[in-house]
Amino acid sequence: MSNLPDLLRDLVIANRILAREDVVDYLGHISIRHPERPDRFFLSCSRSPALVALDDIMEFDLDCNPIDQRGRSMYFERPIHGAIYQARPDVQSVAHNHAYEVLPFAIAYNVKLRPVVHPACNIGLEVPVWDIRKKFGDTNLLVTTMEHGRDLAATLGKSKAALMRNHGCVIATSSLREAVLNAVYLKVNARLQAEAMRLGDEISYLTPGELEKTAELVNSPNSLQRAWEYWARRAGADKL
Ligand SMILES: [Zn+2]
Repeated sequence: MSNLPDLLRDLVIANRILAREDVVDYLGHISIRHPERPDRFFLSCSRSPALVALDDIMEFDLDCNPIDQRGRSMYFERPIHGAIYQARPDVQSVAHNHAYEVLPFAIAYNVKLRPVVHPACNIGLEVPVWDIRKKFGDTNLLVTTMEHGRDLAATLGKSKAALMRNHGCVIATSSLREAVLNAVYLKVNARLQAEAMRLGDEISYLTPGELEKTAELVNSPNSLQRAWEYWARRAGADKL
């Protein structure tokens, strides 16, 4: 496992990658659980991911209270992160975004988002959709309380991704590199699935057996490192 300074630098790079790959714009965020204190996590202060630097990274407890705020403003939607870390001890990294390619599946949500290419195998057989309105009625759609976050985490269940109705999506994984991979490929898969659906009704999805076999390959350390190096370089990480 990386030591803490390396991990925090990787979190900065992950922010830059998600911006470079158009997974996030001025909104969206990614966090990591503290490697030595599972009751805490790290997330940037309220800044656009493309601009996040090391000094912006803040530490929170799992109720999303800052440990050392130092006057920095905070993301309203940090309960997405705290609630998932509370519900899922296996999760080490959480990402949230409003990628435009993913959003149609959170709007026409009777059409399921399902894996159509192998790097997207981690999204599971179909991506669950969380509807904030079911429990909370009319809201501003944002996950601003721990109650919202816990309800989202319940819909996420054991999955590595969930859609949020008319809002965006969340990724929950066992490592930062995997979170970046899944966030990028949830978006790519959504674009390809939507394009295939425009060509015809008979869509070929990956089978459960194919998901299992491709996951072994895609989640191998060598494969994750190769993807990470590629995206990090594109995001200018060598100049950070
Ligand atoms: Zn959001």
